[in-house]
Order: sequence, then C-alpha cells, then structure tokens
Amino acid sequence: MRGLVVAETEGGRLANATLRVIGAVILRGLPVDVYVTDAMLAPFAEKIPGVERVLVPADEANEHIVPETLAAQLHAIQGPYSLIAASHRTLGRSALPRGAALAGGAFIPDVIAVEGESAFVRGLYAGSVVAHVNTASAVTFATFRASSFSPVADSGGNATRVALEPVARFTRTKLVERQASTQTGRDLPDARIVVSGGRGLASKDNMDRLGELAEKMGAALGASRAAVDAGYASNSAQVGQTGKIVAPDVYLAFGISGAIQHLAGMKDSKAIVAVNKDPDAPIFSVADIGLVGDLFEVVGALETHVSTGGASQ
Ligand SMILES: Cc1cc2nc3c(=O)[nH]c(=O)nc-3n(C[C@H](O)[C@H](O)[C@H](O)COP(=O)(O)OP(=O)(O)OC[C@H]3O[C@@H](n4cnc5c(N)ncnc54)[C@H](O)[C@@H]3O)c2cc1C
Repeated sequence: MRGLVVAETEGGRLANATLRVIGAVILRGLPVDVYVTDAMLAPFAEKIPGVERVLVPADEANEHIVPETLAAQLHAIQGPYSLIAASHRTLGRSALPRGAALAGGAFIPDVIAVEGESAFVRGLYAGSVVAHVNTASAVTFATFRASSFSPVADSGGNATRVALEPVARFTRTKLVERQASTQTGRDLPDARIVVSGGRGLASKDNMDRLGELAEKMGAALGASRAAVDAGYASNSAQVGQTGKIVAPDVYLAFGISGAIQHLAGMKDSKAIVAVNKDPDAPIFSVADIGLVGDLFEVVGALETHVSTGGASQ
C-alpha cells in the first residue's frame, strides 16, 4: 500500500507544513505520492526526495478547490492508498473527514506522532490527554499537526507526474477571495522563534511594539485569546486550543498567565521563556526560563539588545 499527501500552497510554493506531513508519512515507510491542488505546485513536489508520483488534477480551476470537490477527488483516487494525509489546517480539516465518509474509511485528526503501520498518537482535551489510536480501516484519512514533524528536503528528488481525470465539481459553494494576513512578522507555525503577548500587554499599542520587536528578532508574533478578544492582536496571531499550534525552538510569553487552553498551543516548544509579575502564574509550570517581574522592563532591555546588534534568526 501507499501513502498520499495533499499538498498546500504558501506564497506560490509548497507550504512548509506539507513538507512536514510528507516527512511524517515517509517515517511510516510507505511509498509516498503527492496530490497537488494547484498544477503550479507540481514542479516543487517533483523535487522532493522520497516522493514517487505527483498527481495533478486536469481541472485548471483547482487552485480554488472547495473541500467537497477535493473530497470527491480523493475518493476517486483512493484505490492504492492505505493512508491519505494532509496538514491539520483549514483545507485538510474540511476535506479529509468528507473524503473518509465517502470512502467508508477512518478519519484521525491532529496526529502528533506515528507509532506504526496503523497506529497514531493524537492529543485530546486541549492536550491534557494523549490518545493512542489504532485503525483497522483499509484506508485511513488523517490530518497531521505539522509542527510535530520535521520537514523533508525540498530538492534532490525526481518524481513522476501523473495527470488525473477531472471529477464533478461541487458548485453550491465557491471560494470568492483569499486575503493575506496583515499580521506583523513571520508565519506562526513555521517560525523558529515566537514572541507572544497576553492581556498583560494592556493595549494594542504595546502589542504593536512587541510585534516590532518580534520583526527585528526574525520572530513571529503570537497572542493569547484574551489579548485577541481585547483587540490588541488579530485572530491570526492567536496561539492555543482554538488558535494556532506552534512548537518553535524558542517561545517567549509576555504577560500570559498560562491557561490550559493557551498551553495546548505552545507547550511542545523546545524552550519556553515566560515573563510574568505573578510568581504563581501557571505559565511558569511549563517554562524553562521564568522571569518574575514587569514585562515592559524586559521588553525594553530586549529592544536595546536587538538595536545594538543582538543576534536574530
Ligand atoms: C473553549 C475555550 C478555548 C480557549 N482557547 C484559547 C486559546 O486558543 N488560546 C488562549 O490563549 N486562550 C484560550 N482560551 C482562554 C483562556 O482560558 C484564558 O482566558 C486566556 O488564555 C488568558 O489570556 P492571558 O493569559 O493573556 O490573560 P490573563 O489570564 O488575564 O493573564 C494575564 C497575565 O499577565 C500578567 N501581567 C499583567 N501585567 C503584567 C506586567 N506588567 N508584567 C508582567 N506580567 C503581567 C498577569 O500576572 C497575568 O498572569 C480559551 C478558553 C476557552 C473556554
């Protein structure tokens, strides 16, 4: 049997999350094919070492594919695959359960580790429970938490391109427009450093100041839900159970208490630095380095360090 990864685009190239999902499927030892939703991605996918075939839909309008059409396409080509995978992002989360329903297969969301041919690990209850899931399904559809896996190299391979027959398009919904996020800094899930602010920032101006610091450090700006709800940061910056899940090399939390819903989105970071004036704040239970004090003093010191030539990513 084979594995199939649904590729996604980011800035006209293959999304880094897709490279990580391919890495996860290769870990299982399955021959890997890649399905590209947009033919423009095929030349990138063909160069990935370990990918054998790149499946390209005949329909040119596929760039704006909706989940229902993608599910029908996956159902049409499922034959040789025991695993059909995508990243745990909007498209995969919408299309793969539909594909599983059409195929009569299992759907496993938010996989954080692969244990064997049919065994996966996923988080439940905001990461408080780790579930070991076995599937007996002939074909399993699964979304992978990209930050839990290493990306494969994006050059050196030589996959074969295969043209697919068009499928009937779902016409009751259509993608009208894509808008790039206006969030300062880098894309959160791919950033090696994340600088996050919480309600302790106390204003949008202070969050903007933290965003500028993040930019200078080569980091992405994150935020707690309380900070987003207060209008300090945009929705796209939210880290946590109902936001983005990140696992950067370094996560800096300023004025974030460390509610379980926030920890669910960042506790797998390799090093966590927390600044909070409350010595009993729960964030310190997961922090590798904890500073009890006023965040604005630390932000000021970091700004000085960065402007006098401190290292960036
Ligand atoms: C279903 C559900 C889903 C949720 N999903 C998410 C989610 O995805 N992400 C998320 O973040 N939350 C989520 N929440 C909300 C979560 O429960 C918390 O309310 C939220 O994370 C709190 O944000 P905060 O830490 O910024 O604010 P607070 O809890 O108010 O903490 C602010 C912290 O700032 C510190 N502080 C204040 N001033 C300073 C200063 N000058 N210097 C240093 N420290 C200072 C305080 O000591 C305090 O610890 C969810 C809640 C529910 C019910």
